[in-house]
Amino acid sequence: MEFRFSEKEEAFYREVDEFLRKELPPDWDQKCLAWPGGYASLGYRGDDVAEGYAHYRQKLLEKGWNTISWPKEFGGRAYSYMEQAIFDERTSYYRAPMMDVIAGGMVAPTILKVGTEEQKKKWIPRIAASEITMFLGYSEPNAGSDLAGIRTTALQDGDEYVINGQKVWSSGANAVDYAWLLVRTDPTAPRHRSVSFFLVDMKTPGITVRPLTTILGNQHFCEVFFDNVRVPAENLVGQKNRGFYHLMTALDFERVILVGIGGFKRMYEELAEFAKKTNRNGRPLSDDPFVRLKLARLATEIEIGYTLVWRTAEMLDKGKAPSVESSVLKLVATELSRKMAEATMDIFGPYGLIDDDIDIAPLRGLAPRGYLDCISATIGAGTSEIQRNIIAQRGLGLPRN
Ligand SMILES: Cc1cc2nc3c(=O)[nH]c(=O)nc-3n(C[C@H](O)[C@H](O)[C@H](O)COP(=O)(O)OP(=O)(O)OC[C@H]3O[C@@H](n4cnc5c(N)ncnc54)[C@H](O)[C@@H]3O)c2cc1C
Repeated sequence: MEFRFSEKEEAFYREVDEFLRKELPPDWDQKCLAWPGGYASLGYRGDDVAEGYAHYRQKLLEKGWNTISWPKEFGGRAYSYMEQAIFDERTSYYRAPMMDVIAGGMVAPTILKVGTEEQKKKWIPRIAASEITMFLGYSEPNAGSDLAGIRTTALQDGDEYVINGQKVWSSGANAVDYAWLLVRTDPTAPRHRSVSFFLVDMKTPGITVRPLTTILGNQHFCEVFFDNVRVPAENLVGQKNRGFYHLMTALDFERVILVGIGGFKRMYEELAEFAKKTNRNGRPLSDDPFVRLKLARLATEIEIGYTLVWRTAEMLDKGKAPSVESSVLKLVATELSRKMAEATMDIFGPYGLIDDDIDIAPLRGLAPRGYLDCISATIGAGTSEIQRNIIAQRGLGLPRN
C-alpha cells in the first residue's frame, strides 16, 4: 500500500489547481454561499455571478473536464477515478460550481453500465455536451428510505408506457429537461423485481410540478405529479423490472459524488484563520482551549474524509463497485457537515446569528445558512440511519433489522 499520488496524478492535481485559479473569477469563493456537504444552499451571490459561471462552464467544456472519467467513445477523457476524485477535491476546495451532477454524474454512469448500445448513443453525447438536464425521481410520499415501496406505475400500452403517480423531494424538477424516473412496471410481482427506470421528457402532457420552499427560502425541491403520461417504450433504461438493482448502482455513484471534500478543508482553513485573527475577552480565539478542541476535532475528521475519498476512488479504478464504502463515505462526510456547522456556531457565539447582509457577520454570514442547510445532507441520497444499516448488513454481515 502506498499512500501517495502517482507522478501523473500529481501533475493532474497541479493542472486542475492552475486551471481553477485562472478560470474562476478572483473573488469567486468569497461569493459562494454553499455549505460543505449541504444540498439546498442558495449558491452564489453577486451581480456578475452569471457571467463568471458562463465563462468557467465554457472553459470546462473545452477541456472536456465535465465528463473526465467517461470512455472516450462517449465524449469523455477516460481519466481514472482517482483523477476524477482529484478534480472533485480541487473544484470543491475553490468552491467552483458543480457541473451537471445528476445527468453527468449519476444518470450517465448508470446508462453506460446498464443501457443498450442505442441508449448510450442517444443519451450520452447529449449529456456530455451539457445539452440536457435531469432530476432524480425516486422518493414518493410513502417511499423514501424504503424505495421498493414506490407506487407510481408505468404500464405498457403497445409501444408506449403510461405513467401515473407522484414523486416528492425532487431536486431541481422545476428547471430540468428530463426525469430519471423510478416506477413500478409490474404491480403484481415482488417489490424488488417489479420496478424499472425511465427517462421522461418533462414537456410531456400530464406532468405537473409544484415547487416546495425550503427553510433557506429557496425552491430547491418539488412535488411532481404524473397523470396518464405517455412515454415511448424505448425510454425504459436497463432491464425491465430490474430497476431496483440498477438503482443500487446509481445510488452508490450519488453517494460518492456528493462529498466535495475540498469544501470542508477550505471552510476549516477559513475558520482557523478567523480564530487566529479574532480577539475575544482580550485574547485570540485560537488561544481558547474550547475553540482549539473543536478545530482539532474537525481537522481530524476532515483527514478521515480525505482518506475515504482516495480509497473509494482507488476501488473504482480496480473495477470494484463501491457499496459499503460509498455508504461510509456519505455518512462520514454528511455528519461532518453537521458537526462543522455546530462547531462554527459555537465558536461564533452571538455573531453566528447575524445574517449575511450585515457587515459584522463573520465569514460572510455562512454559518447560520450552513446550520440550516447541513440538515439536508444527512437526509438526501439516503439518511444517516440507512447508511448505518447498509454498513451493518453489507459490511459487517449483521442480520437485517
Ligand atoms: C435536500 C434534499 C434533496 C433531496 N432530493 C431528492 C431528489 O432529487 N430525488 C429524490 O427522489 N429524493 C430526494 N430527496 C429525498 C430523500 O432521498 C429522502 O427524504 C430520504 O431518502 C428519506 O426518505 P423519507 O423522507 O421518505 O423518510 P423516511 O424513509 O420516512 O424516514 C423517516 C425517518 O426514519 C428513519 N428510518 C427509516 N427507515 C429506517 C430503518 N429501516 N432503520 C432506521 N431508521 C429508519 C429515517 O432515517 C428517517 O430519520 C431529497 C431530500 C433532501 C433532504
